[in-house]
Amino acid sequence: MRLLVVEDESGIRDLLIRGLTEDGHEVDGTATAEDAMVRASEGFYEGYLLDVLLPGLSGNDFCRWLRDQGVKAPILMLTARSSLTDKVEGLDSGADDYLTKPYEVAEVKARLRALARKAQGYPRPELAEADLVVNPNSRTARRGNQTLELSKKEFALLEYLMRNKGRLVTRAMIAQAVWNSETSLYTNVIDVFVAYLRKKVDEDRSPRLIHTVRGKGFLLSATPPPKTP
Ligand code: CA
Repeated sequence: MRLLVVEDESGIRDLLIRGLTEDGHEVDGTATAEDAMVRASEGFYEGYLLDVLLPGLSGNDFCRWLRDQGVKAPILMLTARSSLTDKVEGLDSGADDYLTKPYEVAEVKARLRALARKAQGYPRPELAEADLVVNPNSRTARRGNQTLELSKKEFALLEYLMRNKGRLVTRAMIAQAVWNSETSLYTNVIDVFVAYLRKKVDEDRSPRLIHTVRGKGFLLSATPPPKTP
């Protein structure tokens, strides 16, 4: 699963990221709810692990915000607080489960597996533009009745472009959402992957869907963006 860990204690955050990565998850970490909101808006996560006490907005605030955005992904609260009212507040804000510190990483993994099984009951809708259909559940894509053979990264890039269809996405946005990087170090890599993807999605097909906006980024749409003089 693609996971976001929000925990301001770097030692605990690193421990969680390491443990969950070992289990085959793709894990991002951040220390604040504010940064988590930016990441959640630009990327896509299948699960969230949230510390309650954070500098600035709390884990509960972030959790409530996620649910207000319509996010149905499982949310696991991790906290030092253990009083009943705190647990009730966490669950009321939309969390699925609650773990009190100190906890073992093994227990976090087990709870997450249980939540993931539950979450499979909420399939995510297919994304479509013209005859391109992307299924985030089966991680497959097709144009018309032809299945597109995509690598994991190509699929992640296509899903990101589809979630932002009709909108300009910059290379920096793609770097963060698909490569988990805030730098534009990956500019060349991104251009190469967009070229691969365009070949598979658009070659010998109409309408063309993946457009380059010169000097700015990319845009997926059945309607080409207006030419800038
Ligand atoms: Ca904390």
